[in-house]
Amino acid sequence: MRLIFLGPPGAGKGTQAVFVKKTYGLAHISTGDILRAQVKQETELGKTAKGYMDAGKLVPDDVIIGMIRERLGEEDCAKGFILDGFPRTVPQAVALAELLKSMGRHLTAVICFDAADDLLVERLSGRRTCRNCGAIYNVSFHPPEKENVCDACGGPLMQRDDDREDVIRNRLRVYKEQTAPLIEYYEREGLLRRFDAGGAPDSLVALVAELAGKDDA
Ligand SMILES: [Zn+2]
Repeated sequence: MRLIFLGPPGAGKGTQAVFVKKTYGLAHISTGDILRAQVKQETELGKTAKGYMDAGKLVPDDVIIGMIRERLGEEDCAKGFILDGFPRTVPQAVALAELLKSMGRHLTAVICFDAADDLLVERLSGRRTCRNCGAIYNVSFHPPEKENVCDACGGPLMQRDDDREDVIRNRLRVYKEQTAPLIEYYEREGLLRRFDAGGAPDSLVALVAELAGKDDA
């Protein structure tokens, strides 16, 4: 099963990926992780990527695709994978389709995590971080026993700038602008499956089970 997880910050992609990965023996591939690993191992692709990053430039698509090609050839991808954070643009999606085709593979589905902005804002803006030990709480979903005090070390909790409502709303706006063409592309390709990330987590389990049943590869 070869999946792409597409969704805004706060939609719970990471948590769901861990579950799906374990259940179906898939590799969870985040491009950020690949990039860091290649740079650390000083591979040719890693050195090229680092050159761009050091110059404050975006790493070009062909370099990223090269890294993904290598990653997909690794053993843990034999049963399939979940791609998280890639592709971000239509040209990247087209390049990915070509890469998979050259490997005799195809995507099973693109799972689009849908959630209302207000819910995402509630989830993300409720986050509090311990100034002392870095433990993370959420005023709505995982509150500390005593308001604004860390359960683990007694340190004071704070709201990071990234977790402020105006910053979050802006991130969500940027996400939508960037991914709208990608969602349209996958819809046209007949690969898009929507998942209500604000509902019961069980509904993703059912969707993935259905996809696994249909998967021919
Ligand atoms: Zn603490």
